[in-house]
Amino acid sequence: MNQPLRVLMVEDSDDDSALIQDVLRRGYALSALRVDTGEALRAALADGRWDLILSDYYLPSFSAQDTLEVVAESGLDIPVIVISGTVGEEIAVETLKLGAQDYLLKQNLTRLLPAVERALEAARDSARRRQMEQALRQERDYSDALINSLPGTFYHCDEQLRMVRWNHNLEQISGYSAAELAVIDPMAFFAEEDRTLVRSRIRDVFEQGESRVEVDFLLKDGHRLPYLLTGVRFEHGGRLGFMGIGTDISERRRAEQRLHHLAIYDALTDLPNRNLIQERIAHQIVQARANGRPFALLYLDLDRFKVVNDGYGHLFGDAVLRAVGQRLLSLVGETATVARYGGDEFLILLPDLNDAEDAHAVAGQVVACVNSRLVVDGREVHLSGSMGACIFPDDGDTAEALISNADVSMYRAKSLGRNICQFFSREMSAETQLRIDLETRLRGAVPAGQLRLLYQPKVSLASGQITGCEALVRWQHPELGLVSPTKFIPIAEDCGLIVPISDWVLHTACQQAKAWLDAGLPPVRLAVNISARQFVQQDVASWTTQTLQETGLPPQMLELELTESLIAQDIDKVVSTFSQLRALGVKLSIDDFGTGHSSLSYLKRFRIDTLKIDQSFIRNMLMEKENETIVLAVISLAHNLKFNVIAEGVETRQQCDFLREHHCDEIQGNYFSTPVPAEQFAAMLRSGAHLP
Ligand code: C2E
Ligand code: MG
Ligand code: MG
Repeated sequence: MNQPLRVLMVEDSDDDSALIQDVLRRGYALSALRVDTGEALRAALADGRWDLILSDYYLPSFSAQDTLEVVAESGLDIPVIVISGTVGEEIAVETLKLGAQDYLLKQNLTRLLPAVERALEAARDSARRRQMEQALRQERDYSDALINSLPGTFYHCDEQLRMVRWNHNLEQISGYSAAELAVIDPMAFFAEEDRTLVRSRIRDVFEQGESRVEVDFLLKDGHRLPYLLTGVRFEHGGRLGFMGIGTDISERRRAEQRLHHLAIYDALTDLPNRNLIQERIAHQIVQARANGRPFALLYLDLDRFKVVNDGYGHLFGDAVLRAVGQRLLSLVGETATVARYGGDEFLILLPDLNDAEDAHAVAGQVVACVNSRLVVDGREVHLSGSMGACIFPDDGDTAEALISNADVSMYRAKSLGRNICQFFSREMSAETQLRIDLETRLRGAVPAGQLRLLYQPKVSLASGQITGCEALVRWQHPELGLVSPTKFIPIAEDCGLIVPISDWVLHTACQQAKAWLDAGLPPVRLAVNISARQFVQQDVASWTTQTLQETGLPPQMLELELTESLIAQDIDKVVSTFSQLRALGVKLSIDDFGTGHSSLSYLKRFRIDTLKIDQSFIRNMLMEKENETIVLAVISLAHNLKFNVIAEGVETRQQCDFLREHHCDEIQGNYFSTPVPAEQFAAMLRSGAHLP
């Protein structure tokens, strides 16, 4: 069975047409249509489906060229064979040029069947090619859509580092046009200093199949974008290359930078924090070793900053700290580092000094700067700072040692009266170590029940009778033995332990006095020492009220002994606390009078009951005229202000007689009795002990 063949014949001669069809029927199951005008040809092309067109070369109104034109116009891909009666190589070449598949002579139709077979084969080939091309085009459209939908930039380079393909994002983000990208050297996307890294990553891609790198992407306009670039090796059509995507990581970088900043800068003042200053010191040590120049570390602690915080609120305290930080910064300049080391502590690193003298000069300026008038939020505050300083290489060779020694010196500065700078010396550190030890042990003193109270009688010089007693605390430590309050009270004041210790003292003493009352002993006043620092740390009036209520001791039987250093506190607060206490009925006295810096105007404002002449005056009163004068002056001052006056530390009969003679009201001291345990004091009361 022959293969079907649909032939459209452009031919004016019936004979020729029949002849040709005869030949074709020998090889095919032929169906044919003959046309001989352009219109008929167009209509036939539009109506039917044809495998082949056979066109005569010359027709009366038509030619093979016209046939080829009409077929081309139709867009159909049908092979055309031209059959002519004319012999002419030129004509043959011309028709082939115009798109004919073949050229045959009517006289020689033996070539027809093979020519048809070839033409059909060629038509099949081109149909197949078209299909493949279309498939490829679809594939390409698909991958274009895919790479253009990627969130980042896509690139594909060949082995010679030529850009093969990329997505729209690359054009948009880089700022380079497609034409520029087609010829660009991809190294232009990276800054000079990053190129070595990028090249080595590209090597990795070829050697290991993939790689990634975080690097700045250099845009055409010179801007840089932090980028994460990935790459994978890629072989395509036998050509080796690599492709990957780039992602903008600016957002992540910013977040990382924020975190990093938070980790090394203080959130409140934005100054370097303790981590960063430690690093800077360590770095400076290396530097100083190299250039042989010393550097200094200053440790500044604001004095009584708690007063500012408690008095005006933490927000204001924060603002003050920020202001102090700014001040320090502008004072020491940019080569120095100012860091916030803790609450109210600042560290200042002064690099590259000529000698230690330089540091002394700056240290003096820093103290003066902290001490100068400061207005924050429209409110004036008076600050002072105590500062310790040490010098590399003399005072330590690690950051830790330098900080610790500057800290020790700062403590020394505080104990020397604050508002000064103290430079480090070797002896200091041992002393501080002892103090730290003591502080650690003191923390356990109240819970472990290591505190004791002794009571020292006070006697009236007029009647000789016991009028009261003063409770004096002792610390009985299992290893240290009996520790004097002069040793541990100052430490307790510094580290805040004074609050629980005083609480224990007041409670125990009031309970004891109430027990004596209940036991029917003659009623006497109980004096308890209150540290000036307590006025900063707690509400003394309500604390006293509450303790009196809890113990049941009548307020008139309690006397509080306060030192003159109270004046250094917030005066208005002290005055108001005093009037609350007096309203309760509690008595108030000024202890160690004459040693501090009382002013008469304050004495009047405080409205106290008793002045206690400090024992240092009493001790030498009979040997030194000067002390005698002071004692007499205090007695007369007290009486003029309608205060009671008592002498403490009276040790001899002579002292006692002298004081009686000059109308001092009471005495307290070893002459009558040393401080004694509660039972012993009770025994004295019971037996009616009195002055001879
Ligand atoms: P102060 O309040 O001036 O107490 C008087 C000190 O003089 C007591 O020393 C007492 O033992 C001592 N003394 C008494 N009579 C004589 C004497 O004739 N000769 C000599 N040389 N000394 C005498 P103490 O008990 O060592 O206390 C020292 C200081 O410690 C007290 O001085 C007071 O300021 C403080 N203190 C004691 N107990 C407490 C307390 O419970 N709370 C507070 N905040 N401070 C306390
Ligand atoms: Mg006292
Ligand atoms: Mg005293």
